[in-house]
Amino acid sequence: MKKGKAYIIGAGPGDFELLTIKAKRIIENSDCIVYDRLISEDILKLAKKDAELIYLGKGNTEGGLIQDEINETLVKKCLDGKNVARVKGGDPFVFGRGGEEIEALVKNEIDFEVIPGITSSISVPAYAGIPVTHRGLARSFHVFTGHTMENGKWHNFENIAKLEGTLVFLMGVKNLDLIVGDLIKFGKNSKTPVAIIEKGATKNQRVTVGTLENILELVEKNKILPPAITIIGEVVELRENFKWFKNDILAKKILVTRDKKQAKEMSDNISKRGAIPVELPFIEIENLKIDLESLKKYKAILFNSPNGVNAFFENLKDIRILSNIKIGAVGVKTKEVLENYKIIPDFIPEEYLVDRLAEEVVKFTNENDNILIVTSDISPCNIEKYNSLYKRNYEKVVAYNTKKIKVDREKIIEALKDIDIITFLSSSTVEAFYESLDGDFFILGDKKIASIGPMTSETIKRLGMKVSYEAEKYTADGLLDIIFK
Ligand code: SAH
Repeated sequence: MKKGKAYIIGAGPGDFELLTIKAKRIIENSDCIVYDRLISEDILKLAKKDAELIYLGKGNTEGGLIQDEINETLVKKCLDGKNVARVKGGDPFVFGRGGEEIEALVKNEIDFEVIPGITSSISVPAYAGIPVTHRGLARSFHVFTGHTMENGKWHNFENIAKLEGTLVFLMGVKNLDLIVGDLIKFGKNSKTPVAIIEKGATKNQRVTVGTLENILELVEKNKILPPAITIIGEVVELRENFKWFKNDILAKKILVTRDKKQAKEMSDNISKRGAIPVELPFIEIENLKIDLESLKKYKAILFNSPNGVNAFFENLKDIRILSNIKIGAVGVKTKEVLENYKIIPDFIPEEYLVDRLAEEVVKFTNENDNILIVTSDISPCNIEKYNSLYKRNYEKVVAYNTKKIKVDREKIIEALKDIDIITFLSSSTVEAFYESLDGDFFILGDKKIASIGPMTSETIKRLGMKVSYEAEKYTADGLLDIIFK
């Protein structure tokens, strides 16, 4: 059997977008992903559907015994003919033990490539507004591990204390007392500024600033936990003016519950606005076969959703049949989709509701005219009411079904873990969410719920949840406008 190839990939410090384009391409195409705890879930989502994801945890950061298992796994999977992405935090060669993996690959004559990553040693300080070098302040920077060797061997601090550049310690939290103690003992000024950056470049980034003298106290007080970077030198003071990363706004996580096909556009818009989308569909759209032979008899066609437009045109054979028919769209999104089919709708009601759409068409038609409403199986569209109110002959055609998805409870709990805001774009997604959880909402905690409009809000409230945001314009974008305001 042909051997697979191994890719030793650095994935950067945490912010998903710091992944290189090359790393992204390779992860998307690999059969097997071997990763550790510094890897963000968003990176794993790039993997092929059927790719095997293997978590081999702490070893990489804790310098532990698991490295042998990692090496063996890489070799075994490649010998099985798989292309393997070995994805590591930061850069694979900066305390990443990439070299040991390569030794194992070489020994087994397995082909490999190295894709360097953005190492946390410079990028995490950057996310805290601290440049590792700066004209006049630091003409070099030095990166150390804060671990001792298994045999207890420690750095030569007599030399390190004399260095004039910036000192950066990775994995330094546990031995910080030794680091600080030795630096002072060998003559480093005890007023030298120190910053410790926890979970840098993620939404949980936290920066603690002090001096060699008081940093140990601060570590205790703030209960600082790894992964963290310690940076020592005058450059730390630049943070005062240079800090820029607003992780509290930037990295809110927003749950997208709509149909998989439509989720992507919304997710992209969430990313563009600086938050993180998480997709978990609660409905599925299924287009139906509909008979459009008798279209000629209608004076107007009303489209009640973008999905309706797509389903309608999937069934339409010759667009010219529409030439004398007035066309109404329920809202801007529906209008945009119509325009994709080179149709400019004659009207959009001011309020994006089917009732208003049915009312507005009166201006474009005469008594007893036939009017077709293209809609879904569950849309609230009351033909009898419109017929009697407006003296026209309304008919409806169901162009697609909205199927609720029952999502596994465990899966919901997992997805909701660090979600800040849950979005609902229709009543049926709310219902499917409710049914999947059996009405048990304790996992919602203080997460906010955002609703596309009054009807969806009503369903949310009826089922016992609270609406924190409601769109003013009843579209996905309108909802994001309110959330980000
Ligand atoms: N290869 C990695 C480093 C692996 S060692 C790189 O080039 O960045 C693991 C250590 O890196 C952690 O203990 C911590 O000191 C540092 N580290 C990695 N990612 C970090 C992050 N997002 N925030 C803070 N420290 C991080």
